[in-house]
Amino acid sequence: MKKPKYIFVTGGVTSSLGKGIIAASLAKLLQERGYSVTIQKLDPYINIDPGTLNPYEHGECYVTDDGAETDLDLGHYERFLNIPTSQANNVTTGRIYQSVINKERKGEYLGKTVQVIPHITDEIKNRIQLLGKTEKFDIIITEIGGTVGDIESLPYVESVRQLLWELGHENAIVIHLTLIPYLAAAGELKTKPTQHSVKMLMQSGVSPDILVCRTEYKISDSIKNKLALFCNVKKEDVIESIDAATIYDVPNLMLIEGLDNVVLKKLGLTNNKQPELKEWNNFLKGFKNPKNTIEIGLIGKYVELHDAYKSISESFIHAGAKNEVKVNINWIHSEDLTIDNVPKRLKNLNGILVAPGFGERGIEGKIEAVKYARENNIPFLGICLGMQMAVIEFSRNVLGLQNANSTEMNNKTPYPVIDLMEEQKSVTNFGGTMRLGAWDCKLAKNSKVKNIYKKELISERHRHRYEFNNDYLEQIKKFGMVATGKNPKTNLVEVIEIPSHPWFIGVQYHPEYKSTVLNPHPLFVDFVKASLEHSLN
Ligand code: GLN
Repeated sequence: MKKPKYIFVTGGVTSSLGKGIIAASLAKLLQERGYSVTIQKLDPYINIDPGTLNPYEHGECYVTDDGAETDLDLGHYERFLNIPTSQANNVTTGRIYQSVINKERKGEYLGKTVQVIPHITDEIKNRIQLLGKTEKFDIIITEIGGTVGDIESLPYVESVRQLLWELGHENAIVIHLTLIPYLAAAGELKTKPTQHSVKMLMQSGVSPDILVCRTEYKISDSIKNKLALFCNVKKEDVIESIDAATIYDVPNLMLIEGLDNVVLKKLGLTNNKQPELKEWNNFLKGFKNPKNTIEIGLIGKYVELHDAYKSISESFIHAGAKNEVKVNINWIHSEDLTIDNVPKRLKNLNGILVAPGFGERGIEGKIEAVKYARENNIPFLGICLGMQMAVIEFSRNVLGLQNANSTEMNNKTPYPVIDLMEEQKSVTNFGGTMRLGAWDCKLAKNSKVKNIYKKELISERHRHRYEFNNDYLEQIKKFGMVATGKNPKTNLVEVIEIPSHPWFIGVQYHPEYKSTVLNPHPLFVDFVKASLEHSLN
C-alpha cells in the first residue's frame, strides 16, 4: 500500500484564525485534483471528548457515524469534503493520556518510567498515523488545536518534529496559519507577531514550510518578502488569506493564491488536474443570488453563542442555496418565551426550529413555541429535544394529559411521554454513554418524511438518552400525531409528524450532522421550501 503524505497545520499569534476552514479548503482543492484526503483534529484539552463540555465552552459537539462525540471542526471537514469522518479523526490529550495510563496499568511498559517523551509522543504519533493504516488516503491533514506556545500543545508540536524526521520531508510538511494584524493608527500591516510565532515554533525544532496569513487587507509583495526573509520560507510560500464574506469562499481564494500548488510541489506530487470546483461553485451561485428571503426562528438555550448550533446554521445555508432563498435565522432564547409574548415574538417567522438540548432550563418556552407553530400552521422542525418537546406539547394541549413531561425534566410526571431507554437506566457515567452515532430508521409509506427522503430506509446520527414512550403511541395517533419513522429492530420512534398540519416534523436524530455543501440534507431543503411557501402566502 502506498504511504500517505502528511500535512500538519499549526496556528500562531491568536486562536480563532480558522485553521479548520483552511485545512478543509486545502483538502477540498486536493480532493478536486483526484486525491483521497482526510483531516484530523488534535485537541490539547484533557476532556476525553467534548461530549461532556457545555456548548458555551467549545461550541457544538459534533457526532460521527461511528458515534464519536467530536470537535465542531469535524463538521466543517465533512461539509467541505462530503465524506464521513470517524473516531480516529479527533484526538484529545485526555484520550492520549487515558490510553497511556491504561497501558501502564497493564504493565505494558515493562517497568520503564512512563514519560511525555517518548510515551505520550509515541501515542500521539500512533494516532496521527492510524488513519493512514486503517483507510486508504493519499494525503492526511492534521490540524493541531490551540496556538503555538501554549503549554498544552507542546507534546503535539514535539510529535510533529519527530514525525517530520521519521517520515522524511518529501512526505510531511508544516503549514503555519498566522495573523497579520492591521494597525489603524499606523495605517500598516504588521509582521512582527508572525516572526515571533515562527521563532517559537522553531524553538521546538519545527520550521514551517508554508505560511498562511490571515489578514483584513491585501498583503503587498514587500510584506511577503519580509515574512519570507524572517521566517525561513520562500516568497511563494507566503499565502494570503484575506477575510472572506463566507467560509465557503475560502477554497476559491486558496485556489487563486495557489496553496494547493505549493503544497503538491513540496510533497513531490505532480498533478496537472486543475481543481474545477464545479458543483461547489454551483452551490455558491445559489447561495449568493437568493430570489427570496425567509425568517426562521431557531429556539434554543445557547443562542448567545451561534457556534453551539453550527451544524444547524450551516444546514440552513446549504438548504437555502438549493432553494435560492436567503435564510435569516432569528436566534431566540427559549428562556425569554412565555405564553404572553410568544405571539408577538414569533409572528414574523416563516418557520420554527426547536433545537436540541439537555436539562430543564428553557423547556417551557420551547413548548410554547411548538404550540404556536402547531396552531398557526407555521412549518415546524423539532430536532432531538425539539421533537421531544413537540410530543410533550401535543400530549398536554391536544390529548389533555396535564403535566405530561419527559422524565429527564420531571421524573414524577403522571404522563412520562418521553422516558429513559431501558438500557440507559443502569448508566452512571456521563461521558460517551448516550445513544450515539448512526442508527437505521424505517419510514412509513405515505408519510411526509418518506416523500422527502424518497426512500424507505434511512440512517441518521443520534445523541440522546431519552426516547418517545411507546405506551402513548396509540393515543397520539388517535389525536393526529403519527410516528412515521421507527428503528426497524427496536421499534423506537425516530420521527413524528402531524399530517393535518402543512409541515410539522419532529426527529429524534440529528439531520444537521449529515448536511454537506454537495448534499444538502433533504429535511432542511424541504423545511426551507415549506417556509418559503409560508412566506409567499
Ligand atoms: N436531552 C434529550 C435526551 O437526552 C435530548 C438530547 C438532544 O437534544 N441531543 O434525550
